[in-house]
Amino acid sequence: MVRTAVIGAGMAGLAAARALAARGHAVSLFDKGRGPGGRASTRRIEVQGRTLRFDHGFQAVPDDGPHAALRAFAALEGGAAFAPWRPRPEHGQHTAGGLAGAGGANVPIRAMARGLDVTWGTWIETIRRSPEGFSLGVDTDDAAARGPFGRLVIAVPADQAGALLAGMPPTLAPTLAQAAASARMTPCWTLMAMMPDARPDWDATGPDGVFDLIVREASKPKRAGDAGAWVAQADAAWSAGHLEQTPEEIARLLGEALGRRLGAAPVMAVAHRWRFARTERAVGVTHLAQADIFVCGDWLLGPTLADAWCSGDAAGAAVAATIG
Ligand SMILES: Cc1cc2nc3c(=O)[nH]c(=O)nc-3n(C[C@H](O)[C@H](O)[C@H](O)COP(=O)(O)OP(=O)(O)OC[C@H]3O[C@@H](n4cnc5c(N)ncnc54)[C@H](O)[C@@H]3O)c2cc1C
Repeated sequence: MVRTAVIGAGMAGLAAARALAARGHAVSLFDKGRGPGGRASTRRIEVQGRTLRFDHGFQAVPDDGPHAALRAFAALEGGAAFAPWRPRPEHGQHTAGGLAGAGGANVPIRAMARGLDVTWGTWIETIRRSPEGFSLGVDTDDAAARGPFGRLVIAVPADQAGALLAGMPPTLAPTLAQAAASARMTPCWTLMAMMPDARPDWDATGPDGVFDLIVREASKPKRAGDAGAWVAQADAAWSAGHLEQTPEEIARLLGEALGRRLGAAPVMAVAHRWRFARTERAVGVTHLAQADIFVCGDWLLGPTLADAWCSGDAAGAAVAATIG
C-alpha cells in the first residue's frame, strides 16, 4: 500500500488528508503545533480567575467564498462546527462577518482532524528521498525519521515550504521551490486584550490606519463566556514596520492604541506575531506537483480559509489519482 505523508495539519493539510482517506488511502500528518489550528487557532489565557478564548488568527469565512468549500464547511460535524456570525458594525463602517467557528476558530480544524492519524508537536526540518520513498526528520541526524512514504504533501505557508524544499537536492523539486518564492504573504501583529469596561455599540470594526480589524470575541457564536475579550489585528503595513519588536513592546503600543479606540484601558494585553499571516499574492493554481511531492495551502489560491480547503482538497484528489 502506498502511504502518503502530509507536513502541516492546518486546513489545507487536513483537507488533503481527508480527500485521500475518503478514497481509501493511508495518510499520516505531522504538525509542529501542540494541537489543531494552524492559523485558525484559539488561544486560552487565564485572567482575573477566568479562562478567556481569543481567535488570534482566522475570524470568519466570507459568505461569497468558493461553493465547494462553503458546502464542506456547512456539513462539517453535522453542521455544528461553523455558525453564522453577524457582528454589529460601527457606524459608517462595513464589517461583513460570515461563517465563524462555533465555540472558537479552531473548532472546525479539530473537526477536520477527527479520525485522521496526526502527530502533533513534530517540527519536520528534513526531507530525504531514497528508493523506498520519503523519510521525514526533525533534524539532519534524526535516527527516528518517519517513513518511508510513497507520496509527500507539503501544506505549510509559502516561506516555510520554500525552506523545506531548499533542503532537498536541487534536481528534486526546483519548480515547487520557485512557486513558493513567487507567492507573497504579509505579516500581522495581533493583540489579545481583556477590556471589561469597553462597551461600544458595535461588535467589529474595520480599518483605521493601525488596525485592520477589531473584534469583540463574545459576539461570535457560542462565545458568551468570553465577555471582555477583544482581538485587534494590526494592518499589514503597521505589522511590517514593527516586525522585529518584542511582543511586550507591541502589546504596550497596540494596547494603548486599542485603549484610545475603545475609551477604556486593557487590564491584560498579549501580542502574537504571525510572520506569514495572509496571502497577498497567490500562485494562482490549486496545487502543484513534482516528483511525487505535492504542495498546497492558501498561498497557492488566495487569502481565505476556504482557499486553503480548496487547495488541500484538490491536492489530495491529485495524490489519489497517482496512486490509482
Ligand atoms: C491574523 C489572521 C487573520 C485571518 N483572518 C481570516 C479571516 O477572517 N477569514 C479567512 O477566511 N481567513 C483568514 N485568515 C487566513 C486563514 O487563517 C488561512 O488562510 C488558513 O488558516 C491557512 O490554512 P493552511 O492550512 O494553508 O495554513 P496554516 O493554517 O498555516 O497551516 C499550516 C500548518 O503547518 C504547520 N507547520 C508549518 N511548518 C511546519 C513544519 N516544518 N513541520 C511541521 N508542521 C509545520 C503549522 O503548525 C500549521 O499548523 C487569517 C489569517 C491570519 C494569520
